[in-house]
Amino acid sequence: MEIKISEIPEEGLLRDDEEDASVWDMTELVLEGTVGIHLRALRQHDDEVYLHGKISARVVCECGRCLCRFSHPIQSEVHIQYLPLARFQNAMERENMQRDIDVIFYTGEVIHLNEIILEQLIVSIPIRPLCADNCKGLCPCCGEDRNKIECSCKNEPVDFRLAPLANYFHTKEIRRDHGTSKA
Ligand SMILES: [Zn+2]
Ligand SMILES: [Zn+2]
Repeated sequence: MEIKISEIPEEGLLRDDEEDASVWDMTELVLEGTVGIHLRALRQHDDEVYLHGKISARVVCECGRCLCRFSHPIQSEVHIQYLPLARFQNAMERENMQRDIDVIFYTGEVIHLNEIILEQLIVSIPIRPLCADNCKGLCPCCGEDRNKIECSCKNEPVDFRLAPLANYFHTKEIRRDHGTSKA
């Protein structure tokens, strides 16, 4: 998806699209349904372009507590100023500008939207997503999903990050038991 700068009319160019999410799937990013693209490009001073709008999608994440997979809605606001690299040759000047707003220095005659959309989707992925605010997580003793099963383990508050580790040791113990009974 791209926009040819010379074809942007005075009132701006609107890109309103629903794209199949599988187009954007990659290792770091698994999406569900469609990606909503609502972007407007405005031409300023002939060769400068201001791109703004919204990108929305549903990203598939793993719950930080119970490790289940669920889809989480994300929405990202886009505000990018495109400036022609040819007019900004000074690296220091470019660096200073990029500090204030999202600036992309372009070359050629088109603006590539795909990389912007992909970047926006990736930065919108929640760092520690939860399937529900009250997700009970995995039992650190037996590894059971406490949302589904109420195990009889002693309820001690344990760091959720250690849950998979506890589960690992538990599995190891079972294996050892089997070994003993065979001998
Ligand atoms: Zn959960
Ligand atoms: Zn348990």
